[in-house]
Amino acid sequence: MSVERTLSIIKPDGVKKSVVGNILNRFETAGLKIKAMKMVHLSKREVEGFYAVHADKGFFDELTTFMSSGPVVISVLEGENAIAKNRELMGATDPKKADPGTIRADYSDYVGENTVHGSDAPETAATEIAYFFAVTELVN
Ligand code: ATP
Ligand code: MG
Repeated sequence: MSVERTLSIIKPDGVKKSVVGNILNRFETAGLKIKAMKMVHLSKREVEGFYAVHADKGFFDELTTFMSSGPVVISVLEGENAIAKNRELMGATDPKKADPGTIRADYSDYVGENTVHGSDAPETAATEIAYFFAVTELVN
């Protein structure tokens, strides 16, 4: 077990459905501390940079259009095994396959609008956190 940081995004569908508070409550109840947080409306270019790893996928345009369609809530979560813990709370990418009681099972309509993002490994967490937060926003 080790203390990790992970990047969470509550996607535009989660903000539109007014489940931001509910989702943040799930993180905190699971022992994840919110170390930094902001609500922003990302541009398509900013989203394309964030999801660059998926640039060759057929769903890239759909994904980047959706992610820039409205405000999102971006946070840095910290705790024991934060990366895996957050992904457990999120559930599978496709909400139809997500375990009952997970965020995606409870709130997501389909794979293209699946309510939350979470980093998938320590290296990607570090890159993703640095993409959105300055070192000076993470001192506390
Ligand atoms: P995220 O990176 O958003 O946390 P994930 O790690 O569970 O999700 P990835 O494989 O990284 O899933 O895919 C990134 C995002 O691309 C998914 O969250 C989803 O919104 C979108 N996506 C993935 N597969 C599809 C698909 N077949 N059709 C439409 N969108 C998809
Ligand atoms: Mg991913």
